[in-house]
Amino acid sequence: MRISAGLALPATLLALLSKTSGVSAEVLNSDVVKEKEAYSKKVRMIANVVSVSWDELPWKVDEKRYKRFHQKYTLFSRTGWDPKIQEMAKQTPVNMIKNMSEGTHSTLLDYALMSAGWWAAMSSSWEMDWGDWGLVSWESKMPPTFSIAAATWRQNPQLQELQKKFKEAVEKKPNVMTEIVKKVALYLGADLVGIAPYDPRWVYTHRAYNPRYHPGEQYKEEELKLPDGLRYCIVLAFAEDYYMQETAECGPSMGDIGFGYSRMAVTSGSLAEFLRALGYIGIPSGNDTALSVPYAIAAGLGEYSRMGLLITPEYGPRVRLAKVFTDAPLVPDRPIRFGVYEFCQKCKKCADACPSGAITHGDPTWEGYNESNNPGVYKWYANGEKCFEYWCKSASPGCGVCVRVCPYNKPNWWAHEVFRDYLAPVLGGDLGKQIDDLLGYGKKRKSSEWWGFEYNEVVR
Ligand code: SF4
Ligand code: SF4
Repeated sequence: MRISAGLALPATLLALLSKTSGVSAEVLNSDVVKEKEAYSKKVRMIANVVSVSWDELPWKVDEKRYKRFHQKYTLFSRTGWDPKIQEMAKQTPVNMIKNMSEGTHSTLLDYALMSAGWWAAMSSSWEMDWGDWGLVSWESKMPPTFSIAAATWRQNPQLQELQKKFKEAVEKKPNVMTEIVKKVALYLGADLVGIAPYDPRWVYTHRAYNPRYHPGEQYKEEELKLPDGLRYCIVLAFAEDYYMQETAECGPSMGDIGFGYSRMAVTSGSLAEFLRALGYIGIPSGNDTALSVPYAIAAGLGEYSRMGLLITPEYGPRVRLAKVFTDAPLVPDRPIRFGVYEFCQKCKKCADACPSGAITHGDPTWEGYNESNNPGVYKWYANGEKCFEYWCKSASPGCGVCVRVCPYNKPNWWAHEVFRDYLAPVLGGDLGKQIDDLLGYGKKRKSSEWWGFEYNEVVR
């Protein structure tokens, strides 16, 4: 029997599981899972990551003031009903044509790649707004031949008995269920996975159906009701491609951003189906249903940053986030600290580089800028309206300049990792940022550098 070090299951429990659920006692870890686990372990050791309690984080929540958020106030949802934001959005197609005609930032090829990247996300899921449809359905939509989570199987007494025995076994051993879930999540496509306790504060009060994503339909909203009994949120992070993101804003970075959303939908939906097949609740979620960043912080995936995004030790801010809510027994992770708050206080590279002025140079506050910020949390707020306006002007959905320039964004190679995880934090945000600049990190690369040729030379 070969058991990988990272996912070794106690032998007695393996024997129990093999009797109750058919899980093989032979554990052969997939290369892809091993690589992700080993990379994360190595980086977290170099970066001196420490686990802390939620109360030890620099970010504070004023429980009297903080209110759960209505999804309609997110910038994405406002494109569906707010005339001010809709006016901004009208500029995008005009500027796309301008970009393609001039062929300077982005070409026909870049927008074709963007279209490909978004394909699964936008044609097969509602993870950008309403949730609970297609890939992010809350119940199985599969035929029974291919999934034991299918509706007809749920009435099968023999399957119910097998699921009951399995659930009784892992209820007493949530660490085993956690290992199972994390392994499956990494195999199904996540690059990082963590477990947060279910916390209703981060769940939207209402969901909003955005006609911008459903052409020909009307805006609607309704109170969001999740099933009772949820215990945990499994948080998934998907690394974007360093070299594609070097072309942000515009260029191939747009395709990579879209493909991140497609991966989110496929992986979170598949993991939810896995949980449902075992008899648990599995609710997949992208931008719908709940706020991702606080859940990712609670799940120990990273720290909050000046730019308002999560910064992970492994990939910096270059990640997309998805979630799966469940009632399965799991062991929650703890928030982590590795010096991002202190580094961000001095660095400000994202605020200097942001073309719209959406990122503050100031200190954290309890207040945001507009209705797309939710006050009552002590943190750095970003001005989403300015950010979105720039996306429309540049015709680059996602922009990503802030992610590109952040000193925590480095390619996966040991010298860059040592700088990111060890040297930069030791140098501090001021000097760390200056040396980051001197070494040439964060510079914008041309679209042609990723494709390997000048588009205008080819079509001339
Ligand atoms: S660029 Fe600097 S200030 Fe901005 S998020 Fe990254 S580390 Fe923090
Ligand atoms: S995405 Fe672009 S416009 Fe928005 S905050 Fe980042 S750098 Fe600024």
